[in-house]
Amino acid sequence: MKALIVEDNLSTRLIMKKIAESEGYEVLEARDGYEGWSIFQKEKNNIYIAILDWMLPEMDGIELCRRIRKASATHYVYILFLTSRRDVEDIVEGLETGGDDYMTKPFARKELVSRIRVAKRISVLEHKLNEANRKLYVLAITDPLTGILNRREFLKRLRVEIYRVSRDKKFYSLIMLDIDHFKRVNDTLGHTAGDMVLIEIADRIKAKLRPYDLIGRYGGEEFLIGTPGVNSETGRNIAERIRASICKKPFHAGNKELDITASLGVTSAIPAGNKKDISHILDAMIEKADSALYMAKNAGRNRVIVYGE
Ligand code: GH3
Ligand code: MG
Ligand code: MG
Ligand code: MG
Repeated sequence: MKALIVEDNLSTRLIMKKIAESEGYEVLEARDGYEGWSIFQKEKNNIYIAILDWMLPEMDGIELCRRIRKASATHYVYILFLTSRRDVEDIVEGLETGGDDYMTKPFARKELVSRIRVAKRISVLEHKLNEANRKLYVLAITDPLTGILNRREFLKRLRVEIYRVSRDKKFYSLIMLDIDHFKRVNDTLGHTAGDMVLIEIADRIKAKLRPYDLIGRYGGEEFLIGTPGVNSETGRNIAERIRASICKKPFHAGNKELDITASLGVTSAIPAGNKKDISHILDAMIEKADSALYMAKNAGRNRVIVYGE
């Protein structure tokens, strides 16, 4: 964690620097407002506390505070004014402009230490909050078993993708995969074994996709795969590669090996329409992929069918 200290008086700056360092911060020093601003712009994602003098050459601390507040950093920057201006009006202005705390000079070492510790508490709290939010976000968009997108998030992103390719007039292929006779796995080896197969299926599918393809868990043992810029011929090839990667080597569930196959339905289109048609296009594509999958099941499973071919 870095601290930015903006103070024109050398000896005061050195004292502040020592104190901040003793509290564990790596200190960046500036002698005037402009220097402070240019350091901040370069280092904003590492600076957690800015200790600003008010009266500074070039640009004053108030203006610098205003700029820091307008700039976006990855986290909250705690701003502490440390100035000789002690009027109530000044304190109010400093805090209203975006300062979190306000201290007047001359100052006692002990007090600055305590106030820096307050800043650190805020940073730690914010970090914990961000972490918790990040975890909640991951939980909200992924399927906890396989770690791939859940149905809702997959459909949300698919909608964005379809809209994008419709504007670019590009192909989009949607693949629906369903594991064959999966119920038997659960019935003979148990639910835990079934879960292990689902995890490995997701991994094998992912291994055949590019980073910008979409994969989601659509239902229990059903997966959806979205591939932008892919026509039906390539869509079939991708689905074939996924199918082969599933049936060509056995799955491991505990100490058992088992052969698994899957059926896949593919649909490809250059989606046409404007924003209000997207839901309709999306539903139609899913329906077609589903119906191709149904045909693959009826034709004997462990195969790929492209809708309309
Ligand atoms: P088909 O070839 O026709 O697709 O046959 P199937 O047995 O795969 O299809 P069916 O729809 O009859 O059964 C799907 C099974 O998937 C039933 C359910 O117990 C299992 N399943 C769904 N979600 C999970 C899960 O999260 N974990 C496990 N272990 N099994 C699941
Ligand atoms: Mg000054
Ligand atoms: Mg199914
Ligand atoms: Mg199935």
